Amino acid sequence: MPDQSTLSTLRVQLEDERARLTAQISSLEVGRDESPSYDDNFADSGQVAAEQGENLALLNQLNEQLEEVDAALAKMDAGTYGLCEVCGKAIGDARLEAMPATRFCIDHA
Ligand SMILES: [Zn+2]
Repeated sequence: MPDQSTLSTLRVQLEDERARLTAQISSLEVGRDESPSYDDNFADSGQVAAEQGENLALLNQLNEQLEEVDAALAKMDAGTYGLCEVCGKAIGDARLEAMPATRFCIDHA
């Protein structure tokens, strides 16, 4: 278990990450709401569809990251942060500092 000062540093990192992900997600979601003009020509609409597919994949990825960050913050509140979800052992501080939202120890990554 990381000590109190490491925990608060990690919490700040997670909260920054959360703000960054939330901003990115909302900018992508705004983009999806704009109705693109499909009428110009076929090539353009194909390109728009491809861009929307990429945005959707990115959006899914960002939402997954956000869930992990939220889960890590919830575990900090619950006092179970920093424990591997597979073996229950404490995850090393260096690993938590590199990946604050990780749920697994180095053996179960
Ligand atoms: Zn483990």
